[in-house]
Amino acid sequence: MLEGLEPPKPKFTCKVALLANDLDKKDAEIFQAAIADVRKWPAKSLQKALKERGVSLADTVISRHRTKLCRCYKD
Ligand SMILES: [Zn+2]
Repeated sequence: MLEGLEPPKPKFTCKVALLANDLDKKDAEIFQAAIADVRKWPAKSLQKALKERGVSLADTVISRHRTKLCRCYKD
């Protein structure tokens, strides 16, 4: 009954993932779509648009998440 017993993995995530978690479901979907759409949303533009809506998220953080260099993709 204890097969596969393992301690829970600590999940470290960057600010992009944290923010997506904090947003309402609908906002999170819009946010995730924007993060995923690199052509439509260059990091700088996305940062600016978010800021206009009261969300502060650095373009560098967005870029790192997109290129999978952030904490979300590290073990
Ligand atoms: Zn991330």
